[in-house]
Amino acid sequence: MTPTVIMKFGGSCLIDKSAFNKILEILNIYKNDKKIIVASAFNGITDLLLNTAHNVNDSRVLDDNMAILEKKHFNAIEQIFDEDSEHYFKAKIWVDEKLSELEDTFSDIKEFGMEPYYQDYVLSFGEILSTYILNQYILSKGLDSVYIPANKLIITNDEFNNAYPFYEFTNQRVQKLLLPLLENPKKDIIICITGFIGRNKIGYTTTLGRGGSDYSATILAHSISETAEDKDIKVILWKDVDGLMTINPKFVPKSTLIRNLDYKEAKHIANFGAKILHPKCLEAIEKKNIPLELRNFDKPLEKIEFTEISEHTDKNEIKGISTVEDAVIITVASGSLVDVPGVLAKIFKVMSKNSISVSLVAQSASEISTSFIVKENESKKAVEALYNSGYFSDFFEIKSEEVAIINITGFKILENLTKAKIFQGLDKKNILVKAITQSTEELNLSLVIDRKDVLIAINIIHDDLCEEFEQG
Ligand code: ASP
Ligand code: MG
Repeated sequence: MTPTVIMKFGGSCLIDKSAFNKILEILNIYKNDKKIIVASAFNGITDLLLNTAHNVNDSRVLDDNMAILEKKHFNAIEQIFDEDSEHYFKAKIWVDEKLSELEDTFSDIKEFGMEPYYQDYVLSFGEILSTYILNQYILSKGLDSVYIPANKLIITNDEFNNAYPFYEFTNQRVQKLLLPLLENPKKDIIICITGFIGRNKIGYTTTLGRGGSDYSATILAHSISETAEDKDIKVILWKDVDGLMTINPKFVPKSTLIRNLDYKEAKHIANFGAKILHPKCLEAIEKKNIPLELRNFDKPLEKIEFTEISEHTDKNEIKGISTVEDAVIITVASGSLVDVPGVLAKIFKVMSKNSISVSLVAQSASEISTSFIVKENESKKAVEALYNSGYFSDFFEIKSEEVAIINITGFKILENLTKAKIFQGLDKKNILVKAITQSTEELNLSLVIDRKDVLIAINIIHDDLCEEFEQG
């Protein structure tokens, strides 16, 4: 049984000659494993493509951006290949061809207007360029490698910009196209796959949401695990940090690295602002118990200082404290309308009709008031929509307040004593908790507090729970 490792390299791992060399070093470290590489676009390219797609009518922006796109990719090619070598030419011709296809698409957008599928198609070029260049680079070093655009493998629904994979169809594709390469015992082929992109059933390119290359890596891991006989699979996301931190170092400089956590804990931490991990990517590997490592690209040989997400966790630890600082709490209260079924349904219908996403929800058991959190930039719209709905303007009082949320995650939060320590700490500093939620068996406690108290609150919780954190 040969283990398979799926490694994702983000834009910051593809910046210059020394970065490409480092990828080579990493491939050598994992030389005894079967290797799949999932690559993102070069740094800044996705933003540039997006900007161009939305400015097709400004010929100066269009020309400037096309020139930058060409320059950034040609620069990399000049650096990493011997001039006039076979792979140098192949890479250059590829960039030329793809940029001319891209220009045709910009003309189409100019002619027909910006349809949702155009955006995904345009953005896919970032990964198509970078991954092919990486594939040619690996070949130029005498290793065997193939390039596979992910729209051959990952089949998704029609939700452009934020597509969701159809796992059954994806499994079939992976079985047909990927497994024969992986299971060939005679050949060690490094498979280079574009991150971020897929296709819908009728063949249109879709994308998995910004930062979606992490997700691509885990979707592929899932499908290999479903279809291959060999289940020894691991995902490594190479990052520019050691891994997930217990607290954003901006609040607590002595914050430590989380070395181990399980999928449930990781989902909470990824959701609350730890921008290091795409929140959706855990769903794909959780059911299959596929381990995922977050590792520092600058320390590929590191034995201890990295984060591993797997089925194993230490239940005696708090894993992380995170914050949401752009929150607004909206409270809808009524003294007369208690015990009337359907009030919550009405509130959330108004939110959903206006495409406003609601996070935390707290309702008093007396049903007199319901509070919920929306993002600051949607709060005005939310309050207005409630007033305009008639029902709430007649019988209810509606209030909104700018707040922050502190999330404390880990199995240890299930214990009363942990909660007691948190509240005692906050009390020492006179910090009032305005709302609180924890659902049954949830490994996360969310506290709503005044925004000005965030820094003090985090520090006091950190200090008081110090011994509950993993001890480095
Ligand atoms: N290139 C895409 C983005 O910037 C996907 C990724 O980097 O993961 O969002
Ligand atoms: Mg990126």
